[in-house]
Amino acid sequence: MNNHTFAIHTFGCKLNFSESSDMARRLRELGWSESEQPEAIVVNSCAVTHAAEKKVRNYVAHLHREHPDARIVVVGCYASLCAEEIRKWAGVEAVFGNRDKMNAVQWVVGQPIPETPTFFSTYSSNDRTRSFLKIQDGCDYYCTYCTVAAARGESRSDSIEHVLQNIEKIHAEGLKEVNITGVNLGTFGKGTDENFYDLLKAIDRQHLVERVRISSIEPNLLTDEIIHLVSESDILMPHFHIPLQSGSDKILAAMKRRYKTDLFASKIYKIKQLVPDACIAIDIIAGFPGETDADFEDSFEFVKQLPLSYMHVFTYSRRPGTPAAAIKEQVPETVKRERTNRLLELSETKKRFFYHEHFGETRPVLWESEEADGKMFGFTDNYIKVSAPFCADWVNTIRPYVVEDL
Ligand code: SF4
Repeated sequence: MNNHTFAIHTFGCKLNFSESSDMARRLRELGWSESEQPEAIVVNSCAVTHAAEKKVRNYVAHLHREHPDARIVVVGCYASLCAEEIRKWAGVEAVFGNRDKMNAVQWVVGQPIPETPTFFSTYSSNDRTRSFLKIQDGCDYYCTYCTVAAARGESRSDSIEHVLQNIEKIHAEGLKEVNITGVNLGTFGKGTDENFYDLLKAIDRQHLVERVRISSIEPNLLTDEIIHLVSESDILMPHFHIPLQSGSDKILAAMKRRYKTDLFASKIYKIKQLVPDACIAIDIIAGFPGETDADFEDSFEFVKQLPLSYMHVFTYSRRPGTPAAAIKEQVPETVKRERTNRLLELSETKKRFFYHEHFGETRPVLWESEEADGKMFGFTDNYIKVSAPFCADWVNTIRPYVVEDL
């Protein structure tokens, strides 16, 4: 242990959180410790919306005010897209895009920067129960609204063998749940003879950690054999997160998504048929350019009639440089907000319905370590959040529990 100190601040998605936790672990292994008065600060940035970028900008300015002597390095998606701009910010001494963001560790400790591998795996272990394991990065789809593909580069991934080794490490640290993450998970193995289904089969066969969740998978890549495997597995949890983005075929085409609504619906019904208790979450965007009132109503009706558990609702954000930003028919902010609110309300109704369907059932719950007002929280296999009076012995254990209202 030396006397050097660091802090890491993370914005954005689970992938960023996984990478940040990994960086923190590597820095600790090099003898550095986390501190509120750090000498080096890593900011893992996000650029998913204009608002996300602004948050990063303001936060870095705040960090520099609070810690004028700290060396600040900004990494991540915003750093990939706007490196030159960020280099000019007060206090920022280095910028690493997604390709070489893990080199921030070497930069912080003053070691030579290594050549960057095309894929680096990371896993988080700051939570005592769950780990986010990154198995894939980048995307080749180029949806017209998205900057992620440009920020993270082409799809590339880990090997099955190395993913299994990482799961062994996570298991050895005593964590019970692995959340496998990536930008476009279903493209795992691109350019090799491995694929996502084979990876899931290998994880299922390895049968080491007690729970594995698939963080999100494109509908066109969610095959029936994957759904079937989840239906038969003890460790692949009955929980699907599938980005829909719009329930209007016209808008899906304008987004350059690779499926139509009928394919999406067929996947949802397949899940319901094979894994009836599954939690099914979707992503949806309100106010994509050119979305008329009629298109929105089509989209709304489409999701309304599907047996979904809840929805992640995003208001369309115009990202410079994307094809969608150049579309003339941008939807006014007030209309976007109205549509967002209607979708949020629908999501709440669906969530209540999903929870109610399972009230009274006894389901396995993984209990988390956090305590709030004398209570602890946990999630069932099918991702229903439950609570109980805090009991230290229950933390990081999976116990049968009767699902009740929170
Ligand atoms: S599939 Fe996802 S990450 Fe890839 S371009 Fe589309 S929205 Fe972006």
